[in-house]
Parts: sequence; structure tokens; C-alpha cells
Amino acid sequence: MRDWNDWRWQLRNSFKDRAQLQRILQLSPSETAALESERKLPQQITPYYASLLDPDRPDDPLRRTVVTTTAEFQQAPGELDDPLDEDGDMRAPGLVHRYPDRVLFLVTPLCPVYCRYCTRSRMVGDTAGHSLGVEEWTAAIEYIGAHPEIRDVLLSGGDPLLLSDEKLEWLLSRLRAIKHVELLRIGTKVPAVLPQRITPGLVRMLRRYHPFFMSLHIMHPDELTPEVARACGRLADAGIPLGSQTVLMAGVNDDAETMKRLMQGLVKIRVRPYYLYQCDPVSGTSHFRTPVAKGLQIIRGLRGHTSGYAVPTFAVDAPGGGGKVPLLPDYTAGRDGDELLLRAFDGQLYRYPDAVRLRESD
Ligand SMILES: *Cc1c(COP(=O)(O)O)cnc(C)c1O
Repeated sequence: MRDWNDWRWQLRNSFKDRAQLQRILQLSPSETAALESERKLPQQITPYYASLLDPDRPDDPLRRTVVTTTAEFQQAPGELDDPLDEDGDMRAPGLVHRYPDRVLFLVTPLCPVYCRYCTRSRMVGDTAGHSLGVEEWTAAIEYIGAHPEIRDVLLSGGDPLLLSDEKLEWLLSRLRAIKHVELLRIGTKVPAVLPQRITPGLVRMLRRYHPFFMSLHIMHPDELTPEVARACGRLADAGIPLGSQTVLMAGVNDDAETMKRLMQGLVKIRVRPYYLYQCDPVSGTSHFRTPVAKGLQIIRGLRGHTSGYAVPTFAVDAPGGGGKVPLLPDYTAGRDGDELLLRAFDGQLYRYPDAVRLRESD
């Protein structure tokens, strides 16, 4: 049990190939074939996360997100290796500067578990045989220091929480020392796939860098285990505001009931739903993608029907580098003279006495 609770033991004993996965899962022909061929995206699952998978059902929601299948080899029309053109906005190695006041800093290519729909499948994995370090980060830190408009730095990857406490603290302290950087944040799936990493020592270090936020990648209510609740509780107790990011995926979470359980479950462990993303058209993900209308339908099923705090913003990241575009169901139903017709969550029409004209100053 001591080993099980040691995050480095979890990483050392991760399941990576067919022989290892076969010991715990009844592999389908499609999973077996994909595991035996050359994949672009590596295969890796921590023992903790593997314990959550259904050994007999390849269509188990969590299993679909982490075990490779031959569907990944199909390139559908419109799919690209870098659909968001992050490489086009790369200003230094790993540094994506797209929005006016904030940057995305990809600090490592490594993850404890490789999601089969990864937007960065083109660059994650142990590609160079080693993790990034101080030397590779210097140019990005210099760029941030030289651009006073950058007030928000989002560390991602890969997963920044795979770095040692020492390396991560080196990064955070260097960024904190830049006067114009107000907000530091990390995007991570570690609390969901390797909750053992959220040690008291890590949390004591992170809380020295406030204002510091975290966005947790969580997909399905089955991920909300007592271990995950404890990890999130530790982070929340350290005053770290926690948001969630969820990707909408066919056969995983694409129904209002599952999504409502997930969002309510997140709020219960003090994680505020932040974004629900339309799945990016990354090469080999067509088996995961849903129509945009599905996301709108899910938002309609949440808003008004549960706590507003449990309703994320639904967004499509615009192919080609436009950034996140928020989408809402249309709750208006036209006008009747000066009255705006509103369709409320209960499906009824309500009339709002709208001002007729915008003021000159608007
Ligand atoms: C998502 C993203 C951010 C952060 O966006 P927020 O809406 O502020 O969370 C920043 N840079 C890039 C390139 C992103 O994709």
C-alpha cells in the first residue's frame, strides 16, 4: 500500500504495451491490433487509473479515452495534426502567445496517461528521450519578461505536475519574479489519473505562488473517486481556485444525465466547472467527435436545471488559431413590438419589456 500511494511507483509501474495491458484487460481485436502497430501517440496508463477501467468492456467510457484502438489510424476530412495552429503562434520553444494578455507555456511533453483524443498528440510523449528542463525554458521566460502585456501565464504540456517539486518551483519562482505577471496557473490531468502526486509537500510549495489557479481535466463521473476528492480537497484547502475542463466525447459523456452527474460531482469536491470543449478535429479522433448541436443540447439540459456553479462555458477552439469561441443555446424567440421573447429553462415563453433603442453612446 505504501508503494501504491507513491506517485513515482505509479509511474514506474504504468501499463504501456500489449503484454502489460493484457494482464489486466480482456483486449478487443481493435485494441490488440492498435497496440501491436506503430502509433503516433504513446500508450500509458497508471495502475491507479487502470483500476478504474472495466476489464471486460472495451466500450467502458474511461477505457475508451485511454486505450488505443485502430480507429485512431483513420484520418477524417478536416482533421489536422495541429488543428489550432499552435505552432503558428509559438514565440519561443513551448510558448504559445495567442491572446493579448496571456500565454500558454508547454513545459514538458510527458503525461502519466495519454488521452486518445489529445490536441497535442503531435508533440507529446517521450519524444527526445528526456523531459524538458531549465535550458529549454529560458527563451520562453525571457520572452515573457520582455512583454509587459503578459499578465497571465498558463503552464501546460504534457502535464506540468510530472515535473519534480524542485523543477516546478524553479519555474514558478522565475515567473513570479516578473513584475507584470499577475496570475499563474497550471492545466493538468494529474489529480484525476495520478492523485498520489498531490502530496502535502507539493501543495505547500504551490501555495507560495498565489494568485495561483488550477484547471483540472476531468471527463466522467467515474473519475470522481475518494482519492481524487482528497487530492482536490488538499488543493482547495491551500486556497487554490480549482476549475475543470471537460472534452465532450461520443460514447463517453455525450448525454445530459452523465454530464449533470459529472458537473454536480465536481462542485461537491470544490471544483468549479470552467470549460466544456467541443472535441478538436485532431487526426484520428473522428470516433470521438459529436455534432456541435450536442454540446448546445447538453448546456440547455444544465442551465436552470442545476446550480449555476455547475454549468461550464461550452466552447469550440477555432481551427486555424482563432482561439476559444463560446457557444450558447439561443434562448430568444424573436420580438413582439418592444417586447423581447425569452424561452426560459422550463420551455415557457416570457416577455421582457426591452428598451427600444440603444443609447447614442452604445
Ligand atoms: C485556452 C488557452 C489560453 C487560456 O484561455 P482562458 O480562456 O483564459 O482560460 C491561453 N492561451 C491559449 C493558446 C489557449 O489555448
